[in-house]
Amino acid sequence: MSAQAGAHLMNTYARSDIAFERGEGVYLVDRDGRRYLDFYAGIAVNALGHAHPHLVKALTEQAEKLWHVANLYRIPEGERLAERLCASSFADVVFFCNSGAEALEGMIKLARRHHHVKGDPQKWRIVTCEGAFHGRTMTTISAANNPKYLEGFGPKVEGFDSVPFGNMNAVRDAIRQETAAILVEPIQGEGGVRPADLAFMRDLRQACDEYGLLLILDEVQCGNGRTGKMWAHEWAGIAPDAVATAKGIGGGFPMGAILATTDAAQGMVPGVHGTTFGGNPLAMAVGNAVLDVLLEDGFLDGVDRVARRLWGKLEDLVAAHPTVFSSVRGAGLMLGLVCNGDEGVVNGELIADLRARGLLTVGAAENVIRLLPPLTIEDAHVDEALAILEAAAQAVEEARDAA
Ligand SMILES: *Cc1c(COP(=O)(O)O)cnc(C)c1O
Repeated sequence: MSAQAGAHLMNTYARSDIAFERGEGVYLVDRDGRRYLDFYAGIAVNALGHAHPHLVKALTEQAEKLWHVANLYRIPEGERLAERLCASSFADVVFFCNSGAEALEGMIKLARRHHHVKGDPQKWRIVTCEGAFHGRTMTTISAANNPKYLEGFGPKVEGFDSVPFGNMNAVRDAIRQETAAILVEPIQGEGGVRPADLAFMRDLRQACDEYGLLLILDEVQCGNGRTGKMWAHEWAGIAPDAVATAKGIGGGFPMGAILATTDAAQGMVPGVHGTTFGGNPLAMAVGNAVLDVLLEDGFLDGVDRVARRLWGKLEDLVAAHPTVFSSVRGAGLMLGLVCNGDEGVVNGELIADLRARGLLTVGAAENVIRLLPPLTIEDAHVDEALAILEAAAQAVEEARDAA
């Protein structure tokens, strides 16, 4: 590509100089015809890989009928999707929107409104966790409290109390009269693929019950089957009050959702919240098609099985190359390879090398390489990815020996 490529795009991304032309299942093909094994899936979005026939059919059939009507009218496809999402979760009601940040914004509003209509308008603060990522709007960067994303954007949105992730004493210390909710990612993604202890999740539920707070979860990345269960919090055996999700829910179609109990959503009445695009017939058709596959008999068990196989092989990789990788962590098909920074291994450099070898991954904080393959990967794809990871690890060691 020419040096001027993308010169008229706002300069908010450090992009790699590759343009993909098409996707085939778990592979991406660039404009020069080179094939890559896709283990980042558009950051956990292409949950069923690329050009999945069932999704293509749903999208094209709906595209010929009706795209958008706005929420002034009934949208039967959305009624059906909401009903199915509720049947496969703790939730009673769903609000559809277009992105993760929008789902988080709406869920934060829901939590504050909940206490407002219950006669406790003083309860509006939310306890959040350090290392969190909730999106890029003013409210969500304020909630996550990551200085890197706040710098230069003026005063933070008030009302968030950030505590160390996993520290129950700190959570309890942060709860006060004004607290409305606790917001947490069951598995921090961007923050370095850090799973919350299941005990921490249960303790959060208990603290919320004790103090009359809502437990609101960010499952934008870890939801929709990514961990081998429909929702990541199911591993802890708890039910939250609300969940914000997005990414995989549309399989590549921009879509987000807030799932909530009737009680949690009691403040959400006509006129208090809205979105123009959210829940339009095109999105809902694709969302239903994604769910058809996720809910197929044995699909999530298959995700769990292939994920355990991948995990086992990554542990062997780490054990064989301890000066390159320190550990593997995560859950299901949301895995992080922690690079050995003490030995000078930098995740971004290794990610570039993996890409040159035909494997696409994505970075995360704490020197982590994130593996977020489509949920449709098979054993052969795991083996192919491992062979590339193995070769890259050996190359790091050889370069060091040569130096
Ligand atoms: C990606 C992400 C978001 C933000 O989603 P957008 O669709 O980019 O707004 C929020 N929370 C988590 C955990 C995410 O991974």
